[in-house]
Amino acid sequence: MNELVFTEEDYLSLLHRLSDDKFESCAILTTSIVPKHRSARMLVQQIQIAPPDAYRKRNTSAAILEPAFIVPIAKAARKNGNGLVFVHTHPWELGVPSFSAIDSQGEKLLQEFLGKRDVAGPNAALLFGKEHCRARLLGTDTEINVLTVGATRQVVFDSSSQKHVRQVHDRQVRLLGAEAQNRLGRMVVGVVGVGGTGSIIVQQLAHLGIENFVLVDHDLVEGTNLNRLVGAQPSDVGTPKVNIAERQVKLIAPHAQVTAIQGSVLDSDAAHSLVGVDFIFCCTDTQASRAVVNQLAYQYLIPCIDMGVSITSGDGAIQRISGRVQLLSPGHACLTCQDLLDSNIVRQEFMTTEQRAQDPYFIGEGEPQPAVISLNSTMSSLAITMFLAVVAELPSKARQLNYDAMIGRVRSSSATRYPTCVVCSRYGALGRGKEWRLPVRIVVDDNISK
Ligand SMILES: [Zn+2]
Ligand SMILES: [Zn+2]
Repeated sequence: MNELVFTEEDYLSLLHRLSDDKFESCAILTTSIVPKHRSARMLVQQIQIAPPDAYRKRNTSAAILEPAFIVPIAKAARKNGNGLVFVHTHPWELGVPSFSAIDSQGEKLLQEFLGKRDVAGPNAALLFGKEHCRARLLGTDTEINVLTVGATRQVVFDSSSQKHVRQVHDRQVRLLGAEAQNRLGRMVVGVVGVGGTGSIIVQQLAHLGIENFVLVDHDLVEGTNLNRLVGAQPSDVGTPKVNIAERQVKLIAPHAQVTAIQGSVLDSDAAHSLVGVDFIFCCTDTQASRAVVNQLAYQYLIPCIDMGVSITSGDGAIQRISGRVQLLSPGHACLTCQDLLDSNIVRQEFMTTEQRAQDPYFIGEGEPQPAVISLNSTMSSLAITMFLAVVAELPSKARQLNYDAMIGRVRSSSATRYPTCVVCSRYGALGRGKEWRLPVRIVVDDNISK
């Protein structure tokens, strides 16, 4: 399914700037194209509203742009390998608007014009009525979904006719509604790290009705994991954790599709296997993998929930038992804004064992951290409820939660965005798609990484 993806902020700004009660209005969007299972995801990067002098003709039922407005935008798109979206309004049309015969004619000419200029796209047309929108591939009848991502992930135009809901989900449909349940079934969810917290996330997602998974973890099950690895049994020691997670999903939802990748998200291939998913859970315990997923989420406009549990002890006593769950999504501060990533630790975690042995600043792996299933379950459940609030309109506002087990308190908080952040702002990776490099290792040989 082709998709046009906006940040919530951009979408609202576009709506606001195009609002004119009388005349039709136009804009051109520049998109970064991400290939996705025989279709494409178009990430809106830039919005150019047509100024009054850019119209050749403009009245209550038509709007035609001057080529002088389109040509430089098309040239830039060709140079950067971007796609274009031609936006116009039907300010009088109620309900979901329909493209007119004149729209179709105009689009065919535009598509021809772009073809001659090598703007390969895919290019699209987006139409706003008074209340709703509709989109399609330029000059065709192939409709495309329109999504916004921010505090929520909303499908503002859903071109799918598939509305099936399974009987097993009856009780939660009473909470979420059939439409949201159906949307859950069509989402692809990535889980990075399927250990202590990730295995619980996977189990809950399968029960919720998620039917498409991409699971990434390079670890094998160890004997000391069995106190908390949901779905694992003693005979699984030595088996890849992703296989255990896949088995767990299939036990609950035999029809589910699982792509199990036994690899590290620090490596290019595993990281790029996530660029086509609709949502990510970051359940890893290293800063380097968090750094990769943090950037991937903003760069590809994929909402992500990052979570962690921490138990600190000293002087023979437990000092602190805490947990954190937070949404990484456009409009919300990323981990870099919040200084949650230590660049020296990230650098060391990217090293191979040999490189680490030679690094004068490496202070050693340290003792294994304590880990308890009840704390993992608490944080995982908070994360899943937040997920439902983001994608299924569950009425819950919290997008960052801090748990203090010693006091017995869960507190909602929010962090301030750094306006020119290198990850989550338009000055950084936000919405750049494959135009920017992810901070990953590229394997050039079986034994050599760079
Ligand atoms: Zn029209
Ligand atoms: Zn940031």
